Amino acid sequence: MSLFNQSFPFFSLTGHVLVHTYIGFVQCFILLNSYYIHFFIVEMSSANEAMEQEDQIKPLWRYVTKLRKTPGGGNAMIKCNLCEISFIGSYTRVRAHLLKILREAVRPCSKVTPPKIIELKKLDNEATLKIQSSKKKCVSLPGEGKQKQDGAPPKVLGPLEKGFNLQGKDDLDARIARMFFSSGLPFHLARNPYYREALSYAANTPNLSGYKPLGYNKLRTTFLTTKRRHVVNLLQPIRNSWNQKGVTTVNDGWSDPQRSPLINFMAVTESGPMFLKAVNCFGDIKDKDFIAQHIKDSIMEVGSSNVVQIVTNNAVVCKAACMIIENEFPVIYWTPCAAHTLNLH
Ligand SMILES: [Zn+2]
Repeated sequence: MSLFNQSFPFFSLTGHVLVHTYIGFVQCFILLNSYYIHFFIVEMSSANEAMEQEDQIKPLWRYVTKLRKTPGGGNAMIKCNLCEISFIGSYTRVRAHLLKILREAVRPCSKVTPPKIIELKKLDNEATLKIQSSKKKCVSLPGEGKQKQDGAPPKVLGPLEKGFNLQGKDDLDARIARMFFSSGLPFHLARNPYYREALSYAANTPNLSGYKPLGYNKLRTTFLTTKRRHVVNLLQPIRNSWNQKGVTTVNDGWSDPQRSPLINFMAVTESGPMFLKAVNCFGDIKDKDFIAQHIKDSIMEVGSSNVVQIVTNNAVVCKAACMIIENEFPVIYWTPCAAHTLNLH
């Protein structure tokens, strides 16, 4: 008998148990959707952070106005807010104008008085120090540069070591380990078959010598969208079976790594469980009407004629929400979660 056979309705599982049981498709889809939920917030905050960072490292932009971009390079038509003269250039020329640096071919600002120039130089120095201290320092690998310090001759490699490039493999291991430690990556990533497959592919595919690793922007835009679309296509056979086998919608509350209060909705049939959506309830009051509305939305997404039952945990508010659903859809019935009934009363 299948785990999710509709003829055995009291064997019900909550969303989180399903998530742990079906890592792979389902987990991948949940993660992809979690990325989508946070995408907008991350996008907004990273734009603000970039503006703040620009202001901190180039503080003299505050004293001029960028009128318009000029074609080619990073130059713009700039107007000084103090003396109101205009010139073409970048931040280097803004600095030269305000700090009266003569080697740049721009006229010094006539309105910058000696006390003002002290103030501007202080700002400029602070920015320079900030840039220097924020420059990423590369942590060397164990043993790297040691031979130079010791003055010892380089180690002579035997034919076996040379043939299998054992030194190269050790160096690669050390670089991978450094990547894990420097970004605080979880160690269980090392057990991820896709991580192992990616590095094996890189190491064993001919003609990949000029390969540049996938960048930040491409990863969070093009690749995220394409991968999500692909997973949706892979799940289509499960969707197609909904009207033949009957669906149980399962929902449960959980928190993502950012501690956002989420409710996840899944559609379960004999063909397999499928993640529908996660609703971020931050700032919402999770009363019976709120939960009922979201359950109703998930029922409409699956198709009300395809749904035979809903499963939630046994909280009073969930029970009340499901009573609303039962009244509205007389053919759908609520089943409390068996795991909660047995373990959590
Ligand atoms: Zn000026």
